[in-house]
Amino acid sequence: MDSPLIDPFQRAITYLRVSVTDRCDFRCVYCMSENMTFLPKRDLLTLEELDTVCTTFIDMGVKKLRITGGEPLVRKGIMGFFEGMTRHLESGALNELTVTTNGSQLERFAPQLVAAGVKRINVSLDTLDEEKFARVTRWGRLPQVLRGLDAAQAAGLRVKLNVVALKGFNEDELFSLVEFCKSRDMDITFIEVMPMGDLGGEDRIGQYWSLKELRARLAEQYTLIDLAERSGGPARYVALQETGQKVGFITPLSHNFCESCNRVRMTCTGELFMCLGQEDRADLREALRTHGDSPELRAAIRAAINLKPEGHDFDYSRQEIGGQMSRHMSHTGG
Ligand code: SAM
Ligand code: SF4
Repeated sequence: MDSPLIDPFQRAITYLRVSVTDRCDFRCVYCMSENMTFLPKRDLLTLEELDTVCTTFIDMGVKKLRITGGEPLVRKGIMGFFEGMTRHLESGALNELTVTTNGSQLERFAPQLVAAGVKRINVSLDTLDEEKFARVTRWGRLPQVLRGLDAAQAAGLRVKLNVVALKGFNEDELFSLVEFCKSRDMDITFIEVMPMGDLGGEDRIGQYWSLKELRARLAEQYTLIDLAERSGGPARYVALQETGQKVGFITPLSHNFCESCNRVRMTCTGELFMCLGQEDRADLREALRTHGDSPELRAAIRAAINLKPEGHDFDYSRQEIGGQMSRHMSHTGG
């Protein structure tokens, strides 16, 4: 094994998130515009290249791999990639292989994910109301996702629901979403909406529902006990005393979480982003395409990690959007 990846702020990089496609079968209003232009297929890393670069990262100390997108499960042949990563789980080099999905393809793929060694997945779902679901995802259909959740749990996957907190949209479903998760033995995490991408006139400040407010609302009905648990990422957790449920909060805007950051993100074209909220990036595709797993690729990865910034600059506090990123979440992978 190669020596571990340590950034300039002495943070060990042990978590890689990979966006395997920028395409999606949904068009969530906070994530994509209705008429997205997607990357030409030739720009995408092939499944073999994805395998090579992930294997290199694992050899350099990455212990957790999350596959995301766009919608990762719409990429053709992606189950073959998951099956390839199984060898790293079996050898003990990788501790966890996981995926973030909109759930639309789970009915089809849940058993194969389990066979590949995936144990837990995140499913994004912002509302339990069919009409609202169609409105927020534009192209999604709730019953399909609910069948996907059934299939995932039947296959033995542990499910966490990711809910984007949206002002005037799902405020009234706070308790029903929490109760839904309790009744199905799923964890739940709320996410503050982030200023990613130009979405053609969507009002972001109007969309922003601070999790401080959400948390206070939750505390009207439940006793919230702070948990020490940290994932090295932006999530903070509480337990609800009355039900024993775990609830997570991802608060990039009202709370800074960068000091314990252990992750980097790679896009489907092999660009490595060192921070979700900064433009620092490095192209790994050229080294990968020219040399495969090689000293050149490893040097490119180390040089990139050396550029990892201390933190991001998102800021809504002055009622204008500070630190807004021009790229879409589906590009970097959420
Ligand atoms: N398609 C998959 C899904 O929806 O789970 C994976 C990719 S999606 C970009 C990953 C996560 O990012 C989802 O939970 C989604 O809700 C979240 N997301 C997308 N745009 C966002 C934004 N502007 N602010 C906060 N979260 C966002
Ligand atoms: Fe697709 Fe996920 Fe973005 Fe929604 S959040 S448009 S499901 S990539």
